[in-house]
Amino acid sequence: MASQTGAIVQRSLDALLEDPSFLPEVQGNSRIQAFTSLAAILSTPNQIHKAFLRIPLENGNVVRIPAYRVQHNNTLGPYKGGIRFHESVNEEEVTNLAALMTLKNALHDVPFGGGKGGVAINPRDYSVKELHLISTKYVQYFSDSLGPDKDIPAPDVGTGDREMDWMTAEYKSIRPGKPYRGSFTGKSVVNGGSLGRREATGKGVYFTFRYMLHDFLEEQSKWLDGKENIFAQTALAHKDRLLKIAVQGFGNVGSIAALEAYQDNHLHTKVIAVSDRNVTLYNEEGLDIPTLLDFATGNRGDLPVTEEQLGICGVKASILDREEVLYLETDVLILAALEDQVHKDNVDKIQARILVEGANAPVTGDADKILNDKGIIVIPDILANAGGVIVSYFEWLQGRETQFYSEDEVFRLLFQKMQTTLDTILPQYFGDPYSLRQNCYIHAVMKLSTVLHRQGKLY
Ligand code: NAD
Repeated sequence: MASQTGAIVQRSLDALLEDPSFLPEVQGNSRIQAFTSLAAILSTPNQIHKAFLRIPLENGNVVRIPAYRVQHNNTLGPYKGGIRFHESVNEEEVTNLAALMTLKNALHDVPFGGGKGGVAINPRDYSVKELHLISTKYVQYFSDSLGPDKDIPAPDVGTGDREMDWMTAEYKSIRPGKPYRGSFTGKSVVNGGSLGRREATGKGVYFTFRYMLHDFLEEQSKWLDGKENIFAQTALAHKDRLLKIAVQGFGNVGSIAALEAYQDNHLHTKVIAVSDRNVTLYNEEGLDIPTLLDFATGNRGDLPVTEEQLGICGVKASILDREEVLYLETDVLILAALEDQVHKDNVDKIQARILVEGANAPVTGDADKILNDKGIIVIPDILANAGGVIVSYFEWLQGRETQFYSEDEVFRLLFQKMQTTLDTILPQYFGDPYSLRQNCYIHAVMKLSTVLHRQGKLY
């Protein structure tokens, strides 16, 4: 586990060790031993699978591509987590992302453990035929470890329903006659996927932010009184003026979060900037997100990068460098691209008062501490971006029952589940000195520790 995640898990264990109401039946030396065991279990993955996929390219060359599947912890159920196709994929990154999945599922009471996969390629450098081969080879190499009750991958950066459909088909042909619908989630709807899965993470990210700033504070206005924090101030400020929102990343997560912000009729918002791997687009008056989404859909996911392209789609915006989105004067910054985007060398340039982690680990540990010290709120990844895994869980259930929910039903269940978590976490957050991230970790670690204890795994 990367030091950042590991350090927060350790701090959570330290807090729980001192809390007399947690596992009161375990006292004295046994308590010390149990917490030492917990630290060992949670800080290491159960298995790391690594392979070099042998891929004959269309130009006749054969390449060997590093591929990983890390199974961090399955205390709460089968391992669950996406497969990423990106050139920066490496063992440490995949292991950290797998640990985050364990914590995310525990926090939201999803009956899965944590896993993650990755292939170290830039998918744009490969033909569709080669990507198909990479996807099917991935399943061939790791198939012994995968399965609906063992380890269930899903899409992540660089993968989508196409890759999940290919992988499911390969899994099915390797294990004829065995259940296969729950072997992968994030499949296309026609192939057993769930309605709403594609939008689920982005919708959940925005829902988390909106619920915290609007529904929860409106319902429980006592937290607004006397709580001199940026959170309450921002919540109050939106009543007088439009809240400015900037979004980094315009893929699966970022584009949908931006669209939700654009369409929000609870808070008064305008999306003043969006960015992707090439560019930041900025308009102080607000951007036309539906039109940009249409353009990106027809342009391999990329935003317009020239005045000419902006003219073609009829969107008014200034074209800025891709990093500029981070440093704009905005109320809210939704980070929905990659990890390590806000770090100790650029954190002082951040002007947003609330950061929302749509991506996994976009804020480094050093930067997180500096933001916290300044009173800037970071809504953490394991709280905000669980929509994908929650709807993946619904997809897995629907595949088992071969009964499918309507899209409205999926979103109703999704928001209900996220609200249940928020209603547990937020009163604690407003009532004690820990950061929101630390609160979420404490809750997740408490759940995992209790189950490990009850399963007799701490002796
Ligand atoms: P995606 O591949 O669909 O989109 C990524 C976006 O980030 C693209 O717009 C890309 O152009 C942009 N980008 C890449 N490098 C960038 C850079 N240096 N600066 C700015 N933008 C850059 O990926 P996604 O599925 O939207 O995932 C985004 C993040 O959310 C990842 O961290 C992923 O792990 C996390 N996440 C995704 C899901 C899901 O369901 N898709 C669920 C949970 C978490």
